[in-house]
Amino acid sequence: MAINRIQFQKGLSFRDFQARYGTEVQCRDAMVKAKWPHGFQCPKCGSGGAYFLVPRQLFQCKACHHQTSVTVGTVMESSHLPLRTWFEAMYRLSHGKHSISALELKRYLGVRYPTAYYLKQKILCAMSAAESSRKLKDRVEIDDAYAGGATHGGKRGRGAPGKQPFLVAVQTAMENHRQVIYTVLKAVTDFKIETIEAWAKKALDPGTHVVSDGLHCFRGVAASGASHEPIKSEGGWKGSKMEAFQAVNTVISNLKGNILGVCRWCSARHLPRYLAEHQFRFNRRFNLQAIFPALFAAVTNTPPHPVRLLVSEACG
Ligand SMILES: [Zn+2]
Repeated sequence: MAINRIQFQKGLSFRDFQARYGTEVQCRDAMVKAKWPHGFQCPKCGSGGAYFLVPRQLFQCKACHHQTSVTVGTVMESSHLPLRTWFEAMYRLSHGKHSISALELKRYLGVRYPTAYYLKQKILCAMSAAESSRKLKDRVEIDDAYAGGATHGGKRGRGAPGKQPFLVAVQTAMENHRQVIYTVLKAVTDFKIETIEAWAKKALDPGTHVVSDGLHCFRGVAASGASHEPIKSEGGWKGSKMEAFQAVNTVISNLKGNILGVCRWCSARHLPRYLAEHQFRFNRRFNLQAIFPALFAAVTNTPPHPVRLLVSEACG
């Protein structure tokens, strides 16, 4: 049996992770290197050189005595959790093939459920920020998809009540359509032509060749300079097996399994974050060794997301 090189690649084992980031000092050193790669720089006066105040885990500028932390200005700001708890949460959320629920995270980390829940949401915001500038090119399969709503009875798919619509775009190699490269997943309010135009300008390179099932709104991709090839899709099972849409149908199928398996039901408020999480992991599946460093960089580069913002609105 042929081995799938992507699925069988060597990742970062939990043992190796613990050896690198198992203590508070190791985590803090990693944060210091990320925040001040050329040595400490005071955010107030700009001078170098600081004392480290062990009891409060703060750096104090030698020149102006301003006190600061490695987490200031990041999504970790104001958190009272040990850094190693954040690091393990980042590992657990990035390294599996599938997402894990806040309940599982709570068990792994030994924290309260609300703590695990907001920790996860903040890390998902960092994943969303890291993927916000993703652009697709070459050949792109595009389709509409829906999350949530009634699970039994009632209408399915387009127009079903309570469903949260989202857009799925998958880049494949131009010549080999089975060679899937990247995906972009976007929660949308509707499938109107102007919605697709706005999305395409942001997410598609000019010159992209887009293949769709011909849903009226998809002609909006032309606003980005992309060409559009509508292919009439056969309904039902036959449609899902069509060669032209194999990549996008596979991504939708995996995504639905992941969202249903983890959160059972996804509200409109949280859907963008769950989509961003899936997109972040999917687009880095070629190099599992690099996925934790990528998430670490995202968490340290993403500005603070207070809990009130996580509750009231979706990020990304
Ligand atoms: Zn200073």
